[in-house]
Amino acid sequence: MWYAIILGGGRGTRMGAEKNKVLLPVGGESMLCRSVRAFKGLVTGLCVVIRPEDREEAEAQLRAAGLAQGLLWAEGGDTRQASVSHGLAALPAGCTHVAVHDGARCLVDEATILRAMKGAEERGAAVAAIPCIDTVKRVDSASLVLDTPDRASLRCVQTPQCFELALLRRAHAQALAESFLGTDDASLLEHMGLPVLLTEGSRRNIKLTTEEDLRMAEALLKEAPLPALRVGQGYDVHRLVEGRDLILCGVKVPHSLGLLGHSDADVAVHALMDAMLGAAALGDIGKHFPDTDERYRGISSMLLLSHVTELLRQHGLRAANADITVVAQRPKLLPYIPQMRRNVAEALSLPEDRVNVKATTTERLGFEGEEKGISAQAAVLLCSL
Ligand code: MG
Repeated sequence: MWYAIILGGGRGTRMGAEKNKVLLPVGGESMLCRSVRAFKGLVTGLCVVIRPEDREEAEAQLRAAGLAQGLLWAEGGDTRQASVSHGLAALPAGCTHVAVHDGARCLVDEATILRAMKGAEERGAAVAAIPCIDTVKRVDSASLVLDTPDRASLRCVQTPQCFELALLRRAHAQALAESFLGTDDASLLEHMGLPVLLTEGSRRNIKLTTEEDLRMAEALLKEAPLPALRVGQGYDVHRLVEGRDLILCGVKVPHSLGLLGHSDADVAVHALMDAMLGAAALGDIGKHFPDTDERYRGISSMLLLSHVTELLRQHGLRAANADITVVAQRPKLLPYIPQMRRNVAEALSLPEDRVNVKATTTERLGFEGEEKGISAQAAVLLCSL
């Protein structure tokens, strides 16, 4: 069971602000709220470590952001180490792993957090870090260079720092007993001679320490990537005629009439493909499979659906779910719907409970009601691969 400790204990003197820096807004929301939000769905619970004089404002901010429920609180100490140690004491029985995070690294992303958590599950201790881009010099007290360490062996360490809880508790206890003060939690394990794995961090995961950092973070947030989810809708109509098969979602439905079209005229799959192409901003099926192209004469639309799925894959996208409505006065489609769902689910590589096919009549109104044609509508959600 994972818990996160969010450190908001500092006085923020370097920020030049009157109040605790983690309570300052960045991009319209406080650093503390952003940091708590980043971990909220990834851990069982969170403990916020903050000075008593800041508690009321911190709680008000988190409450307003809908993030306050179930939070644990601990008092900030005089050092980072003391603050973490207070947080550790507040964690409930049953907690097995802990992620320690600086509240001021509020731009942390989910992938960075998950990599460090996975590392700690496998190795006991794992910390987000990035390669050192600048050449680093060791200097003496007069700023004269002593030497230049090999950059390839250097890493800049960030948070989260993730641990088996028992291990970190032991490291804190030993550090306290030996009056060892580390600059981060990993250094307490290093002090004990224990291994710490570094996992890939992110350049955006900066610690907002100065006024300038705050302005940089505002700029980064403005260019934040759009959500990876894309929604699309599709609509299609085909005429009902004699002498054609009625194919819906790849199922041949027994009926006296069938749908007219260049392909097999599977109106439901056409609507679905248009929804998928629409969500991916890739035009429509007319553009990809023109009805002037002899290759598509009589072709199974399920085959075209596989092409569209592959096209989306090439664009880094896949369907997350699909919902199709077939509008037909006759025949009754209910007995065929399970097979339709299975066909579509298979083509989209989705479990069946991510695909819905439904049928409706129009109470004999309009062209569907007069049985001149069948229409279909589809909605689909795409997500990144
Ligand atoms: Mg069509």
